[in-house]
Amino acid sequence: MTETKLRTAEPTTTRRSPDGREIRGPFDIIGDVHGCAAELIELLGKLGHGVRLVGDGEQRQAVYDGHSSRRLVFVGDFVDRGPRSPDVLRIVMTLVRTGVALAVPGNHDAKFRRWLDGRDVKISHGLEQTVAQMQLEGPVFHEEIRHFLDALPFHLWLDGGGLVVAHAGIQAGMIGTETERTRSFCLFGDTDGGARDPNGISRRFHWAAHYSGSAAIVYGHTPVADVAWVNNTLCIDTGCCFGGILTALQWPERRTLQIPARQTYAKALRPFGHPPVRAI
Ligand code: MN
Repeated sequence: MTETKLRTAEPTTTRRSPDGREIRGPFDIIGDVHGCAAELIELLGKLGHGVRLVGDGEQRQAVYDGHSSRRLVFVGDFVDRGPRSPDVLRIVMTLVRTGVALAVPGNHDAKFRRWLDGRDVKISHGLEQTVAQMQLEGPVFHEEIRHFLDALPFHLWLDGGGLVVAHAGIQAGMIGTETERTRSFCLFGDTDGGARDPNGISRRFHWAAHYSGSAAIVYGHTPVADVAWVNNTLCIDTGCCFGGILTALQWPERRTLQIPARQTYAKALRPFGHPPVRAI
């Protein structure tokens, strides 16, 4: 028997249920942040959810000064590519802990979570920036992040059942379920399993083109130049880390609020826009 180097990845806490149908809006739903803390702080301020970062080193923390009674919801991908993933995590963790925000994880957060456990993950697609930033942070903060990410549901079913938030989307029949298939779809969307494009990214399909459910689905994951409803679904990842825009969707008004990126933090591997529609 060879000695295993991998630590077992026991969850550190109980994961929250996706069933939040009793939680009513209005909601302000925030797209993929990817370490863009300055743009996030500006957007939150415009939404009446002012937040500041105070202190340095182990004392550094996010302080909430907001006055809005609306609830925030994050579609995930807090980390990678951008300049300040630890500060984005501080902000989101404070907002979730105080009940101001709900959140689901993205595929980047899930991979980062495995890195936090010392697992053998490929340091690519912007994780190299997060790793460099996290190496300046203390062990207590690392541990807090593990607990935070382990408690997030992979999707959130909200507002009497009429709204679902999932990082990469969800299929109608998966809503409210917690199977491995649902988890994978929520993190990665409709993909071709192991098939990779020349950039090492699995081939994706535009699942929303086939969606016919009655609940509105708000998601991120796929950078698009601007938001547009497709079959009662809306992608709000407008590629801030690639020099695009950080978008918030106000629900139920279906109004968007947007902050342009201050700079291009990472080079996009492919043009913005939805992937091809899967033939069925
Ligand atoms: Mn993303």
